[in-house]
Amino acid sequence: MSNAIDCFGENVFSTSVMRERLPKAILKKMMCTLETGSDLDPAIADVVANAIKDWAIEKGATHYCHWFQPMTGATAEKHDSFLSTTGDGRAILEFSGKELSQGEPDASSFPSGGLRQTFEARGYTAWDCTSPVFIKKDGSNTTLFIPTVFISYTGQVLDRKTPLLRSMQALNKQAVRVLRAFGNQTSKRVIATMGPEQEYFLIDRELYKKRKDLLLAGRTVYGAPSPKGQELDDHYFGTLSARVATYMETLNRELWKLAVTAKTQHNEVAPAQYELAPVFSTVNIAADHNQLVMEEMKKVAESMGMACLLHEKPFAGVNGSGKHVNWSISTDDGVNLLDPGVTPHQNAQFLVFLCAVIKAVDDYSHLLRASVSSPGNDHRLGANEAPPAIISIFLGEQLSDIIAQLGDGPAKSSKGGGGIKLGVTTLPTLQKDCTDRNRTSPFAFTGNKFEFRMCGSSGTVAAPGFVLNTIVADTLEKIADELEGAINVEQKTQEILQKIVKDHGRVIFDGNNYSQEWVDEAARRGLHNLKNAVEALADGPDETIIEVFERQGVLTGCELEARFETLLEQYVNQINIEAKCALSIGASQIVPAVVTYAQRLSTTIANLKGAGIDVEPYASILAEVSKLLSDLRAGLAELKQAIAAMGALSDVKEKGFACRDQIVPVMKLCREAADALETIVDADLWPLPTYAELLFLK
Ligand code: ADP
Ligand code: MG
Repeated sequence: MSNAIDCFGENVFSTSVMRERLPKAILKKMMCTLETGSDLDPAIADVVANAIKDWAIEKGATHYCHWFQPMTGATAEKHDSFLSTTGDGRAILEFSGKELSQGEPDASSFPSGGLRQTFEARGYTAWDCTSPVFIKKDGSNTTLFIPTVFISYTGQVLDRKTPLLRSMQALNKQAVRVLRAFGNQTSKRVIATMGPEQEYFLIDRELYKKRKDLLLAGRTVYGAPSPKGQELDDHYFGTLSARVATYMETLNRELWKLAVTAKTQHNEVAPAQYELAPVFSTVNIAADHNQLVMEEMKKVAESMGMACLLHEKPFAGVNGSGKHVNWSISTDDGVNLLDPGVTPHQNAQFLVFLCAVIKAVDDYSHLLRASVSSPGNDHRLGANEAPPAIISIFLGEQLSDIIAQLGDGPAKSSKGGGGIKLGVTTLPTLQKDCTDRNRTSPFAFTGNKFEFRMCGSSGTVAAPGFVLNTIVADTLEKIADELEGAINVEQKTQEILQKIVKDHGRVIFDGNNYSQEWVDEAARRGLHNLKNAVEALADGPDETIIEVFERQGVLTGCELEARFETLLEQYVNQINIEAKCALSIGASQIVPAVVTYAQRLSTTIANLKGAGIDVEPYASILAEVSKLLSDLRAGLAELKQAIAAMGALSDVKEKGFACRDQIVPVMKLCREAADALETIVDADLWPLPTYAELLFLK
C-alpha cells in the first residue's frame, strides 16, 4: 500500500459511499435522517438495502448480520446469507429494506435481569442508521455488519445502545433549549462526543495458553511477583519493541479500514501494558468503535502469536487497565460547549454547561459509580493506581477559583459594577490548559472536556455514556425552565450558577484523591464511597435514579432494576469462574507439583542421612513447604465449601454478598500460600508460567 491511510474507511458504507451509490432523491432523505435524527422513511429502505448489498457483495460478503450490544457487555451477531432460492433450482442474492431495518433474533439466552421469562423468546433488532454499516472479515468469512438496537417482544430495552441513543436525544433537546435562551438561533442540534482511551496488556500466546486462569477468567489468580515490576518506571512511554510496534501497526490498519480513528498509542505504566486512543466522535459511534477496538485487539494479537488481555487486573502487584472516557457536548455547527471560549458571553454560557455537569455528577454520583461496577474494577478503584470509589470533580486552579467566587453570593458579584453585568460577565477570559493535570481525579476537567477515569478496560463505554447524557440532560432541563421563564437572563444565570455552586461545591476536589485524608474529608462532605461492585449494585436504583431516567424517557424503573440485577449477576458469575479456576489450578496443578518437590526432598534427606550428613537445611525446606502446602489445602477446602454455599443461594443479592465476603477473601488466602510456594519450589516443576515470563518476554 502506497499510503497507510488510503485504507481508511474502505470497509464502511459511509456517507461518501452513499453519495456515489444512492440515487439523489434517496440520498437526500437518508442525509436528512442522519443530520436531523428523524426516522428513516420505510419507503426508501429497499433502495438503500439494495445499494448496500451490491457494495457488500463486491467486497466479498456472503452474509449480513444485525450487530447489537446485549447486557453481557460484549457484542452479539447472528449471520444470515443474502441467498434466496428462485424455485427453479437456482439461487439469487437478495437483501430487502425490511432485512436491513429489522431483525428478530431469539432473545431468550441474553441477560434480561428478570425482565423476561425464558419462554418469552422473541426479541427485535432495529438498525441504528446513524452508525454506518460495515464489512468485517473473520478468517475467510466476510460479513456485512449492521449496527442495531435490541429490544424484547414487549418493547423492553435489552441492550446498551437503545438507552444511549435515547439519552443523546434527551441531551440534545435540553441543551438546545439552553442555547436558545442564550440567544443562539443557529445551532440545530447538540451532540455528546466521546473519546475512550483503551488500556490493554499483550503477552505471548504460548504462555497464555498454559494458564487456565487467564484463558477462562481473564486474570491470574496465582502468581508470585516478578523480581522486577514497574518500579523503574521504564516502561511508560518507553520505546516500543519491534513485535509490539508491528502489532500496533497491524491493529491500526484493521481499525482504519473500519473508519475507527485509532490515533494515539504508547507503552503504559505496567510492563507489557499499552494504550490506544482514537480521535473522539459522536458518543454512539464511539461506543460501537470501542467494541470494535476491543475485538480487533484480541483478533490481531491472536494472529500474531500473542494474547491481548482486557481484564482490569490481569496481574497482581502491577497497575491494572482502565478506560478513560473523555466526554463533551458540541453543537452541530462545531461549538464545543465545554470550551471556555473567549468572549464573556460564551463564558457565561460555558459556566452554565460546566455547572450543569457539576450538579449532575454530584446528584447522581452513586449511579455513575454503579455504571462502571465490575469485579475487575474492584481491584483497581482506590488501590493507588486508579481513582478511589469516591466520585469528585477536578476543575483546576482557575476554574475552582471562579467557582469559589460565584459561591460567595450576590454581595460579591455586585462588585462587577451593578446593572445586569453582574458576576458572570465580568469574569476573566478563560484559557485552555491554564492549570496542571490531576491524574488522581476520577472526573477531571481537561481544558474543553471531562475525563471520567473510573471505567474499567473491559467494560462498555455505552453505560457511562448514557448515564452522563441523561443526568446532564435532566439538569439542563431544570436550567432551561428557569432561563426561559426569566425576564433578565443574565441575572437568572447568575442565580442559577450561585445556587449550583452552593449546593454542589462539595463534589469539587483538586487535591490528591489517593490519600487517606481525602477519604476522610469526602466522608465529612457526605459524598458516597461505594467501595466495591456489590455495594454499588445490591440495593438497585433508588428513587432519584428511577425518576431521572423516566423523566428523560431513557429507561423505565423496571428496566433500570433489571440492569442493576444483570450487573450483579455478572459479578457473581465472574467471581464464581475465578474461584473455580483457583480451585482447579490449586488442586490439580500446584498441589501435585509441590508433592513432587517434597518427594524429591525427602528422598534426598533419606539418602543424606544414610551418608551421615547433616540434613537440617533440607529438613527445614521440607517443613516450610509442608506448612504452606497444608495452608493451601485448607484454603482450597474452604474455597470449595464457599463456592458450594454460594451456589445454593437463590437470591442474586445474597450471592453477591457471599462472593464478596466469603469467596474473594478465601481466594486471597489460597493465593498467599501458593505464591509463597512458588518462590521455594524448583522452578522446573512449577506448573504455571511465571509473572517474569508473562510480563517481560518480548
Ligand atoms: P491523555 O493525555 O488523557 O492520555 P489522549 O490524547 O490520550 O489524552 O486522549 C484524549 C482523548 O480525548 C482522545 O481520544 C481525544 O480524541 C478525546 N477528546 C478530545 N476532545 C474531545 C471532546 N471534545 N469530546 C470528547 N472527547 C474528546
Ligand atoms: Mg487520559
